[in-house]
Amino acid sequence: MNLQRVEELVRELLIEVGEDPNREGLLKTPQRVAQAYEYLTSGYRTDLSEIINGAVFESHANNMIISRDIEVYSMCEHHMLPFFGYCHIGYIAKKHVLGLSKLSRIVDFYARRLQIQERLTAEIAGEIMSVTEAEGVGVVMECRHMCMMMRGVEKQNSVMTTSSVLGSFREEEATRMEFLNLLNRKIA
Ligand code: ZN
Repeated sequence: MNLQRVEELVRELLIEVGEDPNREGLLKTPQRVAQAYEYLTSGYRTDLSEIINGAVFESHANNMIISRDIEVYSMCEHHMLPFFGYCHIGYIAKKHVLGLSKLSRIVDFYARRLQIQERLTAEIAGEIMSVTEAEGVGVVMECRHMCMMMRGVEKQNSVMTTSSVLGSFREEEATRMEFLNLLNRKIA
């Protein structure tokens, strides 16, 4: 990412919204915004295989692995405003399991770019499926969207829930129910 170019764009944006980019409080704002965007969109420039490398372990136990309440912070591609909440992941390993921290790294990898919640959920599920060659994967995500909350749309407190199920989580109702029961979701 060309930081200097982004700084120029942010300066222009400040002028267009009616600000004076030369007033004291805003002098370093373009630089800060550019650095923030570089971080928040770092998923575009990250090599996921490097993140996962070495954290896939052999396992022949065939039980369901659940990781709840992984924090998610992303930005909607329609308004470039944040959406954030929690991601819950379950999978049934056939031969490989992932180190626990890697699940969050996968979430961050897909969240740090412009997204819609549905696609983010599906991409995380697909990635875990392909990395672990699991028997099945389920991902549930519950997020609040600033573009809805800040812009005076009625649903200010609503949480959007999305899910993606693959393999046995899609094909077998009992497996899917076990996953949802284990999550013990409380959806408002
Ligand atoms: Zn939006």
